[in-house]
Amino acid sequence: MSGGGGAGHAAAGAGPRLLLRRLRELMGGRDAPEARLDHMVRLIAASMVAEVCSVYLLRPGDVLELYATQGLKQEAVHQTRLKVGEGLVGDVARHARPLNLADAWAHPNFAYRPETGEEIFHSLLGVPIIGGGAVIGVLVVQNRTKRIYAEEEVEAMQTVAMLLAEMARSGALAPPEELKPEPRRAAVTSRLVGLAFADGLAAGQAVLHQPRVEILRLVAENPAEERARLQAALGALRAGIDRLLASDAMSAAGEHREVIETFRLFAEDRGWIGRMVEAIGGGLTAEAAVRRIQLENRARMSQMADAYLRARLDDLEDLANRLLRHLLGLPQSAASGPLPEDAVLVARAMGPAELLDYDRAKLRALVLEEGAPQAHVAIVARALDIPVVGNLAGIESAIEPGDRLLVDGGRGTVFVRPSPAVEQSFAGRLAAGVARRAEYGKLRELPAETRDGERIRLSMNAGLAADLATLDASGADGIGLFRTELHFMVRGDYPGIAAQTAFYSRVLDRAGDRPVIFRTFDIGGDKPLPYLDAPREENPAMGWRAIRIGLDRPGLLRGQLRALLRAARGRELNLMFPMIAEVAEFDAAQALLDKESRRLARLGEALPARIRVGTMLEVPALYFQLDALLPRVHFVSVGSNDLVQFLFACDRGNAQLASRYDLLSPAALGFLKGVVERCRRAGVTLGLCGEAAGRPLEAMALIGLGFRSISMPPAAIGPVKAMVLSLDAGELGRHLENLLRRPDHSLRPALEAYAESRSVNLALL
Ligand code: PEP
Ligand code: MG
Repeated sequence: MSGGGGAGHAAAGAGPRLLLRRLRELMGGRDAPEARLDHMVRLIAASMVAEVCSVYLLRPGDVLELYATQGLKQEAVHQTRLKVGEGLVGDVARHARPLNLADAWAHPNFAYRPETGEEIFHSLLGVPIIGGGAVIGVLVVQNRTKRIYAEEEVEAMQTVAMLLAEMARSGALAPPEELKPEPRRAAVTSRLVGLAFADGLAAGQAVLHQPRVEILRLVAENPAEERARLQAALGALRAGIDRLLASDAMSAAGEHREVIETFRLFAEDRGWIGRMVEAIGGGLTAEAAVRRIQLENRARMSQMADAYLRARLDDLEDLANRLLRHLLGLPQSAASGPLPEDAVLVARAMGPAELLDYDRAKLRALVLEEGAPQAHVAIVARALDIPVVGNLAGIESAIEPGDRLLVDGGRGTVFVRPSPAVEQSFAGRLAAGVARRAEYGKLRELPAETRDGERIRLSMNAGLAADLATLDASGADGIGLFRTELHFMVRGDYPGIAAQTAFYSRVLDRAGDRPVIFRTFDIGGDKPLPYLDAPREENPAMGWRAIRIGLDRPGLLRGQLRALLRAARGRELNLMFPMIAEVAEFDAAQALLDKESRRLARLGEALPARIRVGTMLEVPALYFQLDALLPRVHFVSVGSNDLVQFLFACDRGNAQLASRYDLLSPAALGFLKGVVERCRRAGVTLGLCGEAAGRPLEAMALIGLGFRSISMPPAAIGPVKAMVLSLDAGELGRHLENLLRRPDHSLRPALEAYAESRSVNLALL
C-alpha cells in the first residue's frame, strides 16, 4: 500500500484521501465560513479517530484564537486565545513544526485553559498551518488515552493543514480582515533600501526572474498518476540541471554549482523523494506534495543557526521551485515568457548571461536580493544602461508580480506599490533626470577640460554589440576597455577566428578614429565558459582565469590575437592583457602576439599600421615590478574592481562585504598615487577602467591623483564630464596630498566636503 501504515490507522492509505475529498467538497460548498469550519473539524476528528479536533487561526497581534472545535467546550470558541509561543499551540506556531505528545500535561509549556474542558485529554498532536511562508494557524487533535500519533497520522494532519492554509488564504475559513495579514499582502507603500549597483531612475512593474508558483490543485484521486507526474518532473529537473552544468557560463560565481550540489544531495536523496511520494499517497497532487515537503523543510531548516546550512536551505528552495515549474509546465525564467513593456526584473541572484537573455527594449531596471556592485551582472547592466539596486534582502517575497516599483539606482532604493504622492515626486525626479540627460547631451561636443585647463580623456567601457550604439551618444573619447570575453559568453559555443575577426572589425569600423583598447579574454572567475573544461575552484576570482588561461591554452589566446591583428589591418590596434601578475607573464603574452604577427606577415597578410600593447594593473604584485614592466609597455590601465578586491582581500561579488572597503581609502588612493608617479616618470600612458571611474566623486579623486584618462560605463560620461568641467585639478591635487596622510577608514566624507566647498558638480543621472 502506497501511503504506508497499517490498516489500524484510519488516517493512513485511503483515509486521508477520502478526508481530503470530503474537505474539498466542503471548500466548494456554499456554507458560511463558520459552519464550514465546524463541519471540517468534525470530519477531521472522525477521520483521525480523535476525540478532539480544533483549529486556531492567527489574528493581528500574534494571537492564536480558537475558531472551531469538535470535542472541546463550544463556549471556548473565540474565547481561548494564546500568544505565539504560549502553551503547546503557541509552541507549534513559534517553531513551525508539529508537536506529538502522549501526555500533553507533562510538557513544560502546557498552559491549561479551564474554559475548554480539556483536562480529560492526554495525547495531543498539533501541526502548523503554513500559508505564504508564515504560520497562519494551528490544527490540533487530542485523545483521552496516552498515545503517540503514528508518523502517517502526522503526515495526514500536515496534508490537511495545507488544505486549510489554502482555504484560509481564500477567505473560506474566516473573513480575511479578522486574520493577521500575510506580510507580502501589505498594500501600503514600502521603501526598501539596498545598495546602489547601477545609477539611474526607472518605474515599472515587477517581473520575477524565476516565476513564483501558485498551486491551485491540491487534491488528486489517482496517486499512481501523480507519482508518474512527479517522476517525469524529476527527470526533467535532472536534465535541466545537466544542461545548466554544461552551460555554466550562464551563471555568476558558482551559484549554479551550489544548486547542483544541493540537487545531488537532495534529488538523489531517498528522503526527499520518498517523502514526496508518501505525501502523494496521502491524497495530494504531485505539486502539492512537493510544496508540502518544501514547507516542512523550510520550517525545519530555518531553525538552524548554521549559515552554511541556511544557504543550503535557499538552494533547496530553489530546487523545489524548479521542480514545481516543471510539474506545472511553467518557464524556468521569465526571459522565455511574454514581458511587459516596462519590466523591472526582480531576482535573488543572476549571472551576466542570464540578464542578456532578456529583451533589453522592455527592461527598465533590475533589483537583486544579493550580489555586489562589482559583480559582472551589475557591470553588464551598466553596459546596458539599466539601473540596478542590489542587496535587498527579502525583496523577492515582499513583492507580487505586477506590483508597481520605483527604482532609484543611484541611491539604492526601491519603492514598492508607491502611493500617489510618492509616485508624483518620483515622476518629478524622472523628468529632472530626462532634463539632466538632455543637459549632458549638450556637453557631448565639449572637450572634458578642467577649470585649470587639464584635458581629461573620458572613454567608455564596452563589450557587446549593443554598446556600440551608445558610442556617439555618450560623447566618449574612445573605448578604454573592450571586454572581449562578453562575446565569448553570450554564445553557447566558441566563436571561431573568422567570427571574432568580423566582430572586432565591426567595433573598429564603428569607432572610426576614436581609439579602442581591446582586452584579451578575461574568462574564468565568475565568467566561466561552457566549452572550456575548467576545474571547479574554491576561489575562482583568484583562480584559473584571464591571462592564466591564455598562457596555459595558447591556442585559444593565439586565435584571439590573430583575429585582433586581422581586424585591425591597416589601422591602429590597442590591446592589453588582463590579470598580469608579473613581468614574465607579460613577456610570454607579448611573445605570443609577436609570433602571430610574424605568422601573418609570412602569409603575406596586411598587419595593423601600429600596435600598442599594454597591461591591466589589477594584481598588486605587478606594482613591485613596475621598473621592469614600464619600459616594455605602451600603456597601463588600472582595473580597480579587481585591484580593490586583491588589495583588501575582499571578494568583489560578496554581498556582505559590498560596502566594507572603499577605493577612496588612504591605502587604495596611496597605492594609485604611486602608480601615477612611476608611470609619469617613465613616460607611460596611464588609465583606469574599473567601475569607480564612472562615479563623479571617485573620478574627481582619480583626477586629483593625476589620472588623465579614465574609462567608464557609457551613461556615466555625462555626469563625470559635468564634474570635470567644474573642477580645479591642480588645487585638488594639493589638497589630496594632505588628505592621504590621514588615518581615516575612507576619505569619502572629506572629498565630499571638498567638492561641496568648491561647488564641484557631483550630480548623478
Ligand atoms: C577591473 O577589474 O577593474 C576591470 C575593469 O575588469 P573586470 O571588471 O572585467 O574584471
Ligand atoms: Mg578585472
